[in-house]
Amino acid sequence: MSLIWNRNHAWDDADWRANAACRETPPDLFFPVGTTGNATDQIESAKRVCNQCDAQKACLEFALATNQESGVWGGTTEDERRKLRKQWLAARRRANATN
Ligand code: SF4
Repeated sequence: MSLIWNRNHAWDDADWRANAACRETPPDLFFPVGTTGNATDQIESAKRVCNQCDAQKACLEFALATNQESGVWGGTTEDERRKLRKQWLAARRRANATN
């Protein structure tokens, strides 16, 4: 799958959202409150849906590009995305420097 986020910072989300596995699940599942207790089970359930989703890569890329701070996106929690986003931003800077 190619990058959806383009040089003009336009976002074409028509494609990946149409394939989202979470379209048929309660949205609350993807926005647990906290990271312990019941939230842990909720996060794991949400990740199981993500891991079956055809749009997982595009969803994660969207979440990184738009800095989604809450919830499970693309099979990652907010803490996991915070770490990934640093790597993602560094990769974008390197790509822009070579273009
Ligand atoms: S990866 Fe997860 S949050 Fe993203 S569209 Fe798929 S099911 Fe929804």
